[in-house]
Amino acid sequence: MDELRSKLFYEQKNGYDLIDTAERIACEDYCAAYMRYLNNSRTEREAVRNAIAEAEGNGFVPYVPGMALTPGMKIYQNNRGKALTLAVIGRKSLAEGAVIAGAHVDSPRLDLKQVTLYETDELAYFRTHYYGGIKKYQWVTIPLELHGVVALCDGSTVDVVIGREKDDPRFVITDLLPHLAADQMKKTMAEGITGEGLHVIIGSTPYADEGKDRVKLAVLSILNDLYGITEEDFLSAELVAVPAFDVCEIGLDRSMIGGYGHDDRVCAYAELKALFDVEAPERTCVCILADKEEIGSEGVSGMQSEAFDCFMADLCASQGVELRRCYEKSFCISADVTNAYDPIYPEVCEKRSASKFNYGLGVCKFTGARGKSGSSDASAEVVAHLRRLFAENHVIWQMAELGKVDQGGGGTIAKFMAKRNIDTIDAGVPVMSMHAPFELVAKLDCYMTYKGVLAAYAEK
Ligand code: MN
Ligand code: MN
Repeated sequence: MDELRSKLFYEQKNGYDLIDTAERIACEDYCAAYMRYLNNSRTEREAVRNAIAEAEGNGFVPYVPGMALTPGMKIYQNNRGKALTLAVIGRKSLAEGAVIAGAHVDSPRLDLKQVTLYETDELAYFRTHYYGGIKKYQWVTIPLELHGVVALCDGSTVDVVIGREKDDPRFVITDLLPHLAADQMKKTMAEGITGEGLHVIIGSTPYADEGKDRVKLAVLSILNDLYGITEEDFLSAELVAVPAFDVCEIGLDRSMIGGYGHDDRVCAYAELKALFDVEAPERTCVCILADKEEIGSEGVSGMQSEAFDCFMADLCASQGVELRRCYEKSFCISADVTNAYDPIYPEVCEKRSASKFNYGLGVCKFTGARGKSGSSDASAEVVAHLRRLFAENHVIWQMAELGKVDQGGGGTIAKFMAKRNIDTIDAGVPVMSMHAPFELVAKLDCYMTYKGVLAAYAEK
């Protein structure tokens, strides 16, 4: 019976029971490099800039339309500093399709409004408009940093980073003391802290002179000294407040990583590293770091933009291949994080179908909500293709369903890739506290996501 059981039953094993010491060391090395990348990539712009720096170090060059492409060539296209597409040209023609992995590098955060700065009661504040799905109460009373750009009328841009260096000042959104919060505490968690109430405190010293708005003037004068900007320049700025926590190991065993923005830079980094490590691939390998996923993949730098199609069409044209012929034979891993089963909140998951920490890369055949609505729902054949690849390459992986039926759901870039007539499946790292200012992942799953994407890129 035992023999028959082990032959017929699908049983999952903890990843740590399946890897040897050498692989544990490789996993640690990989995660150390990822932690450095994440710590320095707090916005999509920084994630793209740091990815380009690493790519150039690995022999990638900017793609110039019309460039002659030879097998093994490594190229990238920077989309306005906010999204990035990289490719390693394969030995086969693009008529055979490409192997694509697509992740996003934007994360939930607090964008400063365009008319953001004000003074009240001799304190200066920035008003914000949150970006992506957040639980607002999580964003008060935590240290915040300010990142972004100010675009000036003369065509130049000013990069702003305040709070990342050890001795930098930081910012915060205040909350009521419990002593006076009786009314607030009766509200629902959705209403207790409101979006319009997320104001970041930025100063309290009045300018040493007579007149009104002296604190605002003092704050603006500091910004003018630092960056040469005025209040009007905020109109054409993209400044964001993000959590100021450093990325760190979590747990006595150091088996997990805590940090801001794992969703989805943890998959973006896995793709990047896999692309750097793939050698002389058969089919052209493409790595996408997209923007705007958290607000529906809209915009010129999101996955619904034709920027990606233009890039792929250029590559195809250089080989005399029609783009649609390439797409219909291509395969895409939509590499995005999934929900990890959290034993503190078991009620939202169906345990057998939920992904778990240390069980490897989580594959989502479908996401969506209310009867899989809004999901691209990959074909069984596509899942089988992954099973074969992962088995051949010793990738530890698991099926992942985003919550119980009718509990909720989520979207990724998968449906926009599938819309292009590309076979697409979601796969990524299981995350706890997703979209919180400090998210949690397990190292083994991060490493297996890298291995999974590499297996797809290195297909024979
Ligand atoms: Mn995501
Ligand atoms: Mn997300």
